[in-house]
Amino acid sequence: HPQQETRTFETEVQQLLHLMVHALYSHREIFLRELISNASDAIDKLRFEGLKNEELFEGQKEGRIRLVPDSEAGTLTIIDNGIGMDRDEVVENLGTIAHSGSRAFVDRLTGDEDQDVELIGQFGVGFYSAFMVADRVEVTTRRAGVDTSLGVRWESDGTGSYTVETIERAELGTAITLHLKDDAREFLEEAELRRVVKTYSDHIPYPVVLEGGEGEETLNEASALWARPRNEISEEEYRNFYAHVAHGDTDPLTWLHFHAEGTTEYTALLYLPSQPPLDLWQPEARHGVRLYVRRVFITDQARDLLPTYLRFLRGVVDAPDLPLNVSREMLQSDQQVARIRKGVVKRVLKRLADMAENEPDRYRKFWDNFGAVLKEGIPEDSANQDELAGLLRFHTSKRPDEWVSLADYKAAMRDEQKAIYYLTGDDLETLKNSPQLEVFKKKGVEVLLLTDPVDEWVVMHLSEYDGTPLTSVAHGDLDLGELESEEEKQVEEATEADYGSLVGTLKDRLGEAVSDVRLSHRLTDSPSCIVAGENALGEHMERLLKAANQ
Ligand code: ADP
Ligand code: MG
Repeated sequence: HPQQETRTFETEVQQLLHLMVHALYSHREIFLRELISNASDAIDKLRFEGLKNEELFEGQKEGRIRLVPDSEAGTLTIIDNGIGMDRDEVVENLGTIAHSGSRAFVDRLTGDEDQDVELIGQFGVGFYSAFMVADRVEVTTRRAGVDTSLGVRWESDGTGSYTVETIERAELGTAITLHLKDDAREFLEEAELRRVVKTYSDHIPYPVVLEGGEGEETLNEASALWARPRNEISEEEYRNFYAHVAHGDTDPLTWLHFHAEGTTEYTALLYLPSQPPLDLWQPEARHGVRLYVRRVFITDQARDLLPTYLRFLRGVVDAPDLPLNVSREMLQSDQQVARIRKGVVKRVLKRLADMAENEPDRYRKFWDNFGAVLKEGIPEDSANQDELAGLLRFHTSKRPDEWVSLADYKAAMRDEQKAIYYLTGDDLETLKNSPQLEVFKKKGVEVLLLTDPVDEWVVMHLSEYDGTPLTSVAHGDLDLGELESEEEKQVEEATEADYGSLVGTLKDRLGEAVSDVRLSHRLTDSPSCIVAGENALGEHMERLLKAANQ
């Protein structure tokens, strides 16, 4: 490495910095939340690595975040004794936008400051918010455990470039010095710092200490929120903690906070977001639930803690009986983790069922955002199939603008009806006008209209609901059973005799293109339609497989 080098920011970082500085003025105070949150994450990481190697702590095990305002110099410095960064990490983390959502961030900005400011944390671009209040930012840092000659100093004015150099640094961890803009000097005032920390960072599990004129003062509650009794936690504290675990989103749909005892003891505080996270459909999505063992952060990559169909949950699970030195790999096969997962799934599904029954509006919001994800549970989790089936909602031919549960559908079934009928396809408009629905309309039978790609898998795995089979209306030999009257059957037989020769001619003409031509009694307005054979895949499924090149 050259001793000192000047590097330019990635283009996207430059755009982002420009936006931060010019567009989000009225919410500038959140820079402190972001920097304290990073400091807290860094202490979490050191505590985790220190479990295996005590020497990394370099003698100071207690995590601590210090705020040092200096009115004369016009600077505010945020200091942590966390893991720190080496030179490569500094360049990687403070010069690029590491997370894949960077481009999307810029695209998603709406111009509405209230909305845009929420995006900062979610996109993993919190550090750059320092430039909302500072016209120069200096970072000095040293990774825990490396030689004191390998400290790093980073500096930038937040326009096009930054410098990095290797320096001597005795302390481990990171110090971030903000040279405050003239119009941001309120962040030198103790009262203002007190207020901002209390508002946004009260739940941070390490003390945030103000080093001011009167000596030291801890500004936050500094306890793990989830470990406190429910009735002692205010709604605001719950919401602020959510902003921490959900990277800035401040508006959860609801949350569950519970303690489980028995063979496996654990505490969970889980939030349902009110908006889908941006990476909901990305396979490498950030995992939203953080695993702690006796308040020591272990990982946010414990993918086995939750099934993927609950990947929208955000929050914390603290499992005191897991070994502290549990490795991320061990979690995969751990019996206790499997039991926690089972328990958490039950609780979440129960909560959703309660919400569906007692708070239909809220449940509707949930379903609009996450229904398509939850449905993945039907093929994935057969043990909870009944509970999941009860949570499903569909549009139907009679109620295309509503979300109808299978129980509602059954309640509205005609007496002679023996099956739950469905039709799958790409979009609701096409389905509503499908000729395959004609006979059902005529007979007043409701049909579920399924448009999500995952629906094909849902109906493949859900053969019945509460004793009633699910049947596709697109299958060739659809037997409407008692829905057909004797009279209709006789008319059908007569027509078959009349049109026998036409069917024969069509068969000859179409040849290999079709497997059969049949006279249908299902159509009332359209002359013909194409249907899938008895054992054939649904039309929509065929399209899906084709799309996947199978
Ligand atoms: P995020 O926290 O969502 O990853 P940020 O922009 O806030 O995104 O931070 C970018 C990265 O910079 C962090 O992931 C971390 O690796 C590094 N970083 C920032 N602040 C610190 C700190 N105080 N100590 C150690 N690493 C830090
Ligand atoms: Mg951050």
